[in-house]
Amino acid sequence: MSAGVNGATLVRPALAGRVGALEEFNASACMNCGVCTAVCPMGIEVLPRRLFRYVLLGMEDQVLEQIESIYSCLLCKMCEVNCPAGVHIAENVRSLRHHINRTVFGL
Ligand code: SF4
Ligand code: SF4
Repeated sequence: MSAGVNGATLVRPALAGRVGALEEFNASACMNCGVCTAVCPMGIEVLPRRLFRYVLLGMEDQVLEQIESIYSCLLCKMCEVNCPAGVHIAENVRSLRHHINRTVFGL
């Protein structure tokens, strides 16, 4: 159990772990080089380096703390086209949003 957005209490065991297990979520190749952060027009520092790591590690609370970054991403793929490891960054953000929309917001 954890405190969630708007003070609501969330019971979402392994939310992040479930997303990380999705076939289309490819983040494990990340080398933590920082290129994505450098080219992001939104200056989103947490994406994808830390956030995707949290997902892979199943750190649900830390993922949900970054909800603003997750939803402010423009899906512009500036990071993705420059990623030397071929991480599908925008698609990963989409998967994460889809999962949060369903499990946290009930959409
Ligand atoms: S550019 Fe790619 S390899 Fe580098 S930190 Fe970002 S996701 Fe990881
Ligand atoms: S897709 Fe998102 S994280 Fe990547 S550069 Fe664009 S706004 Fe930044």
